[in-house]
Amino acid sequence: MKNETEELAEIRRAVRALCEDFPGEYWRAKDAVREYPGEFVDALTRAGFLAALIPAQYGGSGLSLDAACVIMEEIQATGCNGGAAHAQMYIMNTLLRYGSEDQKATYLPRIGDGSLRLQAFGVSEPTSGTDTLSLKTRAVRDGNEYVINGQKIWTSRAEHSDLMLLLARTTPREAVEKKTEGLSMFLVDMQRALGNGMEIKPIRTMMNHSSCEVFFDDLRIPATALVGEEGKGFRYILSGMNAERILIAAECIGDAKWFIERASAYASDRNVFARPIGQNQGVQFPIARCYAQMRAAELMVHHAAHVYDEGGNPGEEANMAKLLASEASWAAADMCVQTHGGFGFAEEYDVERKFREARLYTVAPISTNLILSYLAEHVLGLPRSY
Ligand SMILES: Cc1cc2nc3c(=O)[nH]c(=O)nc-3n(C[C@H](O)[C@H](O)[C@H](O)COP(=O)(O)OP(=O)(O)OC[C@H]3O[C@@H](n4cnc5c(N)ncnc54)[C@H](O)[C@@H]3O)c2cc1C
Repeated sequence: MKNETEELAEIRRAVRALCEDFPGEYWRAKDAVREYPGEFVDALTRAGFLAALIPAQYGGSGLSLDAACVIMEEIQATGCNGGAAHAQMYIMNTLLRYGSEDQKATYLPRIGDGSLRLQAFGVSEPTSGTDTLSLKTRAVRDGNEYVINGQKIWTSRAEHSDLMLLLARTTPREAVEKKTEGLSMFLVDMQRALGNGMEIKPIRTMMNHSSCEVFFDDLRIPATALVGEEGKGFRYILSGMNAERILIAAECIGDAKWFIERASAYASDRNVFARPIGQNQGVQFPIARCYAQMRAAELMVHHAAHVYDEGGNPGEEANMAKLLASEASWAAADMCVQTHGGFGFAEEYDVERKFREARLYTVAPISTNLILSYLAEHVLGLPRSY
């Protein structure tokens, strides 16, 4: 970002220096066997980057969301993949805002020092899809415990996380006045749960993202695992989702920068018809267009982060940042393959890997259609479609 503070520029330099130890060869090898990049996540944790949003009193660095965006953006811009760890940043916000003092004191210092990973976010289910309010996983209070039954899908990093933030229904939908009520948020100790009512099944996808199905069959968790008030879980995730969207948008900006830099370098070096291909405006202009698209989206990402950091509700800005940034990164990914011609498909250039990885963000964590629907209906006041 141009004209940024010395503090942010310093964070950028530090992230870049760490990422230099994880070049394309590292990511290619992990991608080939779909292995979790544990060494990279450990290095980020040791350097304190994943504890950026944890307040200093709990052992973190208490940075702003804007600074966290710079961290995630720079990881992507160096060719690394923050998808291996990004949830720790955004899940944190729900715990920070709504967790009890006891939960914060118990978990945050250990998340900060890396002895616990909070990487799993269990919201999506196979039958309800985007319609979160129809989710079926139930949590029923039984004395000092809740009993969980149901299934989650696409729970990324479930096999590599110690804790999961889980959204489940505590009051049947028919029994609540407003359909947004009756869902509750839990912090599940996954190590204790595994094999004792919770099973995890990995899903192989087009990129290395460690996504899983998670099955609950009479899983018993202590009532103290409830985050905030029972029945208010949907409100909590909506607030946390703004941070998630802004951070993912920052990652998309990093991806777009990587594609634009790679395409510019290749177009300057590659000679065909006895001149660099980048001398042809048919090759230059798509790169320039992607740059303009990325810069516009970048402004919205930082604007959204500022609104969040000032305590405002950036629903509109966070959604627009995610929409614009995911489209900018996907346009840049496509442009980068086109600029590389056949070599865009060769693994050793990393373009095809980044292309596959970048495709995710117009679908998850929220699809473009659902953002447009939010803007149309909640910002512009058009009639509701659902
Ligand atoms: C790799 C990966 C990682 C993920 N990680 C996580 C995770 O860690 N935790 C988690 O909880 N979830 C995760 N997800 C789930 C992700 O958030 C969902 O896939 C996403 O929100 C879309 O939901 P869906 O797949 O159920 O699609 P659906 O809801 O079935 O929608 C399919 C298509 O229909 C469109 N559509 C649906 N309804 C409407 C409508 N009313 N108007 C217009 N268009 C509509 C959608 O935009 C979409 O394009 C992940 C997904 C993937 C692929």
